[in-house]
Amino acid sequence: MVTLEKIAHLASDCQFDSFGSVGPLDPGSNINLEKLSILGEGTRHDVCASTYSPRKSPLPGICHAFTQDGRCVSLFKTLYTNHCSHQCNYCINSTNCSHRVQTFSYTPDELARVTLSLYRSNYIEGLFLSSGAGRNGDLIMEKMLETLERLRRRYGFSGYIHLKILPGSSQAHIKEAMELADRVSINLEAASSSQLDEICATKSYENDILKRQRYIRDLRGEENLPAGQTTQLVVGAAGESDQDILDRILYEYREIGVKRAYYSAFSPQKGTAFESRKGQPLWREHRLYQMDWLIRVYHFPPGDIKWAFDEEGFLFNSDPKLAIARELLDSPLDPNEAPYRDLIRVPGIGPRSAMRIVALRKTRRIAANRELEALGVVIKRATPFLKINGWRDATLKMWSG
Ligand code: SF4
Repeated sequence: MVTLEKIAHLASDCQFDSFGSVGPLDPGSNINLEKLSILGEGTRHDVCASTYSPRKSPLPGICHAFTQDGRCVSLFKTLYTNHCSHQCNYCINSTNCSHRVQTFSYTPDELARVTLSLYRSNYIEGLFLSSGAGRNGDLIMEKMLETLERLRRRYGFSGYIHLKILPGSSQAHIKEAMELADRVSINLEAASSSQLDEICATKSYENDILKRQRYIRDLRGEENLPAGQTTQLVVGAAGESDQDILDRILYEYREIGVKRAYYSAFSPQKGTAFESRKGQPLWREHRLYQMDWLIRVYHFPPGDIKWAFDEEGFLFNSDPKLAIARELLDSPLDPNEAPYRDLIRVPGIGPRSAMRIVALRKTRRIAANRELEALGVVIKRATPFLKINGWRDATLKMWSG
């Protein structure tokens, strides 16, 4: 397994590649274990794949993510710097945090070198780069772009790159980022402007975030950005409901064209302004991902998803698709007759199996559960909601359980 010592050694030793000499480290460069560790740890709350497990990676700085084509790739995940002039009340890098750790920054040469060394040694397939804003966000964006430029144009790096755009970045920087990265993202952090105001007094929801997301959307026609833009929210830091979050995400998918939204359950950090706020359970994050799937992949309309919430707009800790099915399917469906829209409401039937059912019944009637199973239906979950040619293979207990 790769260790921090090994990464530091690889980076310091990286002298040449097949595209030309990388050369010795810049004078004054210092790739030490503390820097690698703190800047790697600093991305703990930057999500690049759906998670519902203790967030353990083999090492601070190595994570797994899914590319556009569904491949799982290992990424070197790091901050460029943990120095930040913003005041996000949940963040240990915020200027208003009383327990701030020592600040570190890479230089573009150091970061390109570490990434290249790990890539060439087959420890990673790409880079996930985020950052604090430093004293001057524009300058940090320039440094991050210089890192990517070195990797891509000087060293011929062809691995995957996900770059977090800093809030308030200029249109020119965003354009350059889209030329160099496979995926870019701007963290929404909150579901609304007023909720962001509660989380962070130094960012404008409309100007620093939404306006920048629209730049990316509009530039996508010009730039080849294969994996598109994504976004991320902190869940539960500002007392917002799950319905608030998912209403915002519906907007993001429809109007901004984000490819994926990621959710990070709020967890209070020592020394931050939100230190004494209640942390959110990981199951909340998990249920939001399930709802996100129903919106993004199943295309459930708002009229369907509203049934998953309680009166205050929160999800229960149970399968939201089951809750929706219980509300909307008041009697068992015959897969020989039900329209596609109703079939995908049935737990255990997804878009692919629903399409297969629709295709099969054009040729003949479905006569038994085993035929549905062969089409990919999860029979145990689906049978309480189905009747085949008038027959139900489920007890009333299953229907109500
Ligand atoms: S912008 Fe906010 S969340 Fe990001 S590093 Fe700075 S203080 Fe932390």
